[in-house]
Amino acid sequence: MSVLTDINSEIEICQNCELAKRRTRAVPGEGPENAKIMFIGEAPGWHEDQQGRPFVGPAGQFLEQLLASIGLKRQDVYIANVVKCRPTVNQEGTRDRPPEKDEVAACGWMLHRQIEIISPKVIITLGNPSTKYILNTELGITKIRGNFSEYKGIKVMPTYHPSYILRNGGDSSPLKRDVWSDIKKVLKYLDMPFPGRMR
Ligand code: URA
Repeated sequence: MSVLTDINSEIEICQNCELAKRRTRAVPGEGPENAKIMFIGEAPGWHEDQQGRPFVGPAGQFLEQLLASIGLKRQDVYIANVVKCRPTVNQEGTRDRPPEKDEVAACGWMLHRQIEIISPKVIITLGNPSTKYILNTELGITKIRGNFSEYKGIKVMPTYHPSYILRNGGDSSPLKRDVWSDIKKVLKYLDMPFPGRMR
């Protein structure tokens, strides 16, 4: 078993916070251990909780489309979340909510270990919770997206979360152009070709 498989197995049985009590499945993350790019989202939603895989609902489809538009498949990158179990507004689990600070803190060690093992060249944080946690900042995503920062010597590019784009016009949202421009900077840094014009 690889070190990453070990840590992901630990995540599946973690009971470090209240979220563990209501989960169907924990969602450790997935992708190749030697991925150059690591995406970090917020937390699992309903679909992810059911399947134990990150970004498999509507936000995931949007992320996959975005990856395809720059010539990548989801299997080329590592995808994880800052919190590994689904946060909901109530016990019945009728609606998702962003993770609380204490939930992020309880989960944080797992993400740090995953980053250490994968050692990506670039981390792309999606939305506020992962950006704030990784960059240890209170600045909002609209202020800091599109500019490289660093986490333990690894470049970090904060950008909008796919769900935020879906809530704000989806495919025809001008925010999509911003995400493209952020990812374009990442590809340039990695010396990877940028396939043509934005669709
Ligand atoms: N949103 C996230 O942040 N992560 C997922 O895995 C799915 C939706």
